[in-house]
Amino acid sequence: MIEYTLTTCPFCGVGCNFYLKVEHGRILGVSPSRNHPVNRGRLCVKGWNAFDFVTHPDRLRKPLIKENGKFKEASWPAAYELIVKNIKRIKTENGPDALGVISSARCTNEENYIIQKFGRACLGTNNIDHCARTCHAPSVAGLTRSFGSGAATNSIDELPDAKCILVIGSNPLEAHPIIGWRILTAKDRGAKIILADPRAIGLSNFSDIHLRLLPGTDICLLNGLMNIILEKELEDKDFIRERTEGFEELKETVKKYAPEYVEKITRVPRELLIKAAEIYAKSKPASIVYSLGITEHTVGTDNVSTLANLAMVTGNVGRLSSGVNPLRGQNNVQGSCDMGALPNVFSGYQNVEDDAVRRKFEDAWEVRLPGKKGLTNSEMFEMPGRIKLFYIVGEDVVHSEPNSKHVISCLEKAEFIVVHDLFMCKTAEYADVILPASSFAEKEGTFANADRRIQRVRKAIQPLPDTKPDGEIVMEVASLLGYHMKYKNASEVMDEIAHLSPIFGGVSYGRLEKEGFLQWPCPDKNHPGTKVLHQEEFVRGKGKFFAIDHKGPEELSDDEYPFILTTGRMLFHYNSGTQTRRTAILSREFPENFVQINSEDAERLNIKNRSKVSVSTRRGALEIKAEVSNNIISGVIWMPFHYADKLTNTLTNNAFDPISKIGEYKACAAKVEPAK
Ligand code: SF4
Repeated sequence: MIEYTLTTCPFCGVGCNFYLKVEHGRILGVSPSRNHPVNRGRLCVKGWNAFDFVTHPDRLRKPLIKENGKFKEASWPAAYELIVKNIKRIKTENGPDALGVISSARCTNEENYIIQKFGRACLGTNNIDHCARTCHAPSVAGLTRSFGSGAATNSIDELPDAKCILVIGSNPLEAHPIIGWRILTAKDRGAKIILADPRAIGLSNFSDIHLRLLPGTDICLLNGLMNIILEKELEDKDFIRERTEGFEELKETVKKYAPEYVEKITRVPRELLIKAAEIYAKSKPASIVYSLGITEHTVGTDNVSTLANLAMVTGNVGRLSSGVNPLRGQNNVQGSCDMGALPNVFSGYQNVEDDAVRRKFEDAWEVRLPGKKGLTNSEMFEMPGRIKLFYIVGEDVVHSEPNSKHVISCLEKAEFIVVHDLFMCKTAEYADVILPASSFAEKEGTFANADRRIQRVRKAIQPLPDTKPDGEIVMEVASLLGYHMKYKNASEVMDEIAHLSPIFGGVSYGRLEKEGFLQWPCPDKNHPGTKVLHQEEFVRGKGKFFAIDHKGPEELSDDEYPFILTTGRMLFHYNSGTQTRRTAILSREFPENFVQINSEDAERLNIKNRSKVSVSTRRGALEIKAEVSNNIISGVIWMPFHYADKLTNTLTNNAFDPISKIGEYKACAAKVEPAK
């Protein structure tokens, strides 16, 4: 008999729900949930194929210990013994802050909570981070300083009722396809779509205006839109007066961003700017949807706050179908942040440096906790030797961090590395011990999607023999180190999270079973959860305008490196491709890395479509095929980042946003030549 287990998609942050169909312990396929408010009976191609990798023959099935440069299968006790011995030694010799823990946006909320507790309570360090650092750390920082909360202001199911949607730095039809579908539904209902992106992408065909800006000129573009709105007196004066602060400084700053000036910097024709500003300001409610094209810059946090400025100038916050909405990349990157897999906060964004907060966690966890915030991922990899022991859970940092060679030099300099993963990956090659983990289909827990929706992940099959869920592994290591974390099940972990974290106070498995999901904040058991943030007032009281001037990328194109390289995600792949490249239907599409280059640039350089080219930056070079196309503007090249054999991040720049510490993946100087 076929059994149907309702669960949450393990790929992107949209959080679609589907049933895993299982017969005799074998997954046969998936079937979308018809009444889920986000996906309503639909899935994208990744969701339909979200089971193939689970039983792929490449799955790691035994712990591996490196001996004389080669991995050998080992027993769990032998692997644990080696890990514990090295943690004790390195901690004794160098102190707890020589250890660094990298958690995983692929793990459940409960596992992320356990991993950060392991770092803080057992290892004694706040050096805990995860891949939000490489995607939406600027959203957390920017939206928190502007609004008081770092999460999406609105819900995905409100998008179809927006009158205007500004999509900036995001390719939703490929990267978040179900959100792309909801945007198209809005279009069908009469909404105006404004797209800001250097490339012609799927959504270009449906947008009313396409602003093809140069990468790294978002602040200039957005200040330009506000300049026009204020010149034409289209701002929402009541909203600005009653609900915000800092408007006069903003007004002064945007004065100089007249359309002619903005056109020079962004390359967007002034008449398009004027049209876009008028449409956005006059169509209420208007929603802003953005992604890594905004955040992955040295001005990532400023980009996000500038979007917040635009929304507040027009009163488009705190109401249905409006707001500023980051599209989170991985299935549980929102939840990993929420659970405190960050160096500065416990679960529920409670500051580790706040004495009262820390005492609360010390009492509950019965241990003294470090009182100084820890290092971010980027700081752990700032210089070789800074971190002597890395404990990395399900994160391929060599693939996903900018400037891979530099990351490798940090791993090579570390004294000991533990990696949990489903598959062998680039990072695991540098490990001393690799522990075989279990997939989403083999465990219980919850994920939180891009609109703060906490929803269940359910076990459909038993873990493959000799693999274990990440949370269980971490608790066993902690016990051997003398710190005992004992939970009967994932529900009990959630009870502890709810008890210690005010914004999750009303979340329980009992309610999730009955209600399907809960959107935080949900402070008590009678609270229905929060669909729209900042309705009566902003979480910080008044919304704060930040007057921000344009500043270009750290590396500008020059005679030696005349192009700007920018990167992105494709429909058939997800993040580092560890799972999608092991899914037959997904991996057959676009099987190899390539670079998109403008037709005129290609002709000038004598580059033919599908010919081999060398793409180089100050950090490295790759030989890949060219895709010659007018879908990209002259002077800019674009590459996807999913391919392990030709790592795009060999080329990207590890220059960081000073506030959020994200790397500048979206703009660096590059050269393209026919391959020799
Ligand atoms: Fe899964 Fe995202 Fe596709 Fe939904 S849109 S099915 S969450 S990959």
